[in-house]
Amino acid sequence: MDKLPKCDANYVPLSPLTFLYRAAAVYGSRTSVIYGGTRFTWKQTHERCLRLASSLRLLNIISKNDVVSVLSPNVPALYEMHFAVPMAGAVLNTINTRLDAKNIATILRHSEAKAFFVDYQYVPLAREALKLLMADCSHEAESSLPLVIVIDDIDSPTGIRLGELEYEQLIQMGNPEHPPHQLKEEWDPIALNYTSGTTSAPKGVVYSHRGTYLSTLSLILQWEMGSEPVYLWSLPMFHCNGWTFTWGVAARGGTNVCIRNTCAVEMYRAIAEHRVTHMCCAPIVFNILLEARPEERREIASPVHILTGGAPPPAPLLEKIERLGFHVTHAYGLTEATGPALVCEWQAKWDRLPREHQAKLKARQGISVLTLADVDVKNDMETMRSVPRDGQTVGEIVLRGSSIMKGYFKDPEATSKAFHNGWFQTGDVGVIHPDGYLEIKDRSKDVIISGGENISSVEVETVLYKHPKVLEAAVVAMPHNRWGETPCAFITLKKGAERSEEAIREADIIAYCRNNLPKFMSPRKVVLMEELPKTSTGKIQKFQLREYAKSFTIV
Ligand code: ADP
Repeated sequence: MDKLPKCDANYVPLSPLTFLYRAAAVYGSRTSVIYGGTRFTWKQTHERCLRLASSLRLLNIISKNDVVSVLSPNVPALYEMHFAVPMAGAVLNTINTRLDAKNIATILRHSEAKAFFVDYQYVPLAREALKLLMADCSHEAESSLPLVIVIDDIDSPTGIRLGELEYEQLIQMGNPEHPPHQLKEEWDPIALNYTSGTTSAPKGVVYSHRGTYLSTLSLILQWEMGSEPVYLWSLPMFHCNGWTFTWGVAARGGTNVCIRNTCAVEMYRAIAEHRVTHMCCAPIVFNILLEARPEERREIASPVHILTGGAPPPAPLLEKIERLGFHVTHAYGLTEATGPALVCEWQAKWDRLPREHQAKLKARQGISVLTLADVDVKNDMETMRSVPRDGQTVGEIVLRGSSIMKGYFKDPEATSKAFHNGWFQTGDVGVIHPDGYLEIKDRSKDVIISGGENISSVEVETVLYKHPKVLEAAVVAMPHNRWGETPCAFITLKKGAERSEEAIREADIIAYCRNNLPKFMSPRKVVLMEELPKTSTGKIQKFQLREYAKSFTIV
């Protein structure tokens, strides 16, 4: 074997961009994107991406591996940028549209974005963010501000602008004959996705061409996504690049149905009119579909496959949504794992079980995706001892394999902390059932998941600590009938504040948080306490507060 020649000559870097090149060649005349009255074929999408990539390079603002940020709902431009930005040799950074200006400015600063694409709907928010960015910038550094390009509505242009350039102008300007950037190394970055915690300590998760290529293929296989799927964009593309289906739909020569709002009317209409076959979403979207008024609903004529994750889907909700005609696959994942890391793969022998039992099995998070070499639950990270497969003993879920991130951008310390003996520590606590399927029981990390959006409790606490009368603050998750969880703050007041003339009320603290945080991150309940429960070393015992918070459910 030693005598075999090295196959360097045969090395072609893995990249999901090849899915687009292939789609244009094989499925050229098939519809690639639908948005309102706009339709493109794969040949056109390919050409538009080549044009945009060439314009980005002609503008002379980006070098290899520079970041291009975008703030946009699920419109065709955001889809195209998933190909065009890396085709220009740059790295795509999709920003969560629910963040506030401060968080967006932090991301733009940390990522050193060279260009910032903004959908017209988010122009006021982006303007605010840019103002903050500029205020922080020294005079000489002003030239390092990103070039702003507005994305007007392609279907019905509004004329709204922010700066000089508009997206379609760049498409026109570009040259489709201009060859895209030649990727030489598959470990090169393709995307940068920020997890929550952006105000205090931004954590930018870097994906490689190789990792996203493998994750995309494994998800298509495991979800059994056949050729020509009609895929409804109900999951924001800014969540882990749409759990890689931005690239996956191209790999299958499918049709992307883009909608601006994930409301019941738009989703039901798209499903009925375009015969949607697949969609991904957080479990909160089930509520939107289930609570739709009769006039908003449309019949689900043929099964629509849903991949759900991002938050635990309660078994009764799974049962209800499947009765409507949706076929659900449950996945578990996190940004650091390029989206789904576990899939609750269905076993044929479960087909005969009563629906209720089926829903319980499906509510488990499942087994590893193909790109993971291994997944385990450890009850001791020092000895790396695994929990027994008894469905009872809890431990931390750890992952290893090709879909795990390259690391956190500009943060080697956080990167090395995230891994232990080569395993990525998820911060989620779970059990392994005798059949090898994992189930999440709790989280050891300080994260609250509200409607599929992650809220860092530390971030909310940081704001509370800035309130002049707050002495201590601890934020935990409390149950919420609609959003799953919502932040609940426990605070103590500084001496004298409790007797001050204006008594502090729960509503004042909530209003203060609303002024300083995105709305979805603000606590819905604030409990004033004499003292917070603490360990002997003075650490706040959040598990006690979590138990306490369970007694207040917000409907
Ligand atoms: P995403 O952008 O996909 O929501 P995040 O990194 O923001 O990813 O959130 C990941 C966290 O969400 C996980 O660590 C876990 O706590 C939670 N999570 C994701 N999927 C599930 C699931 N199916 N069941 C329970 N919790 C989940």
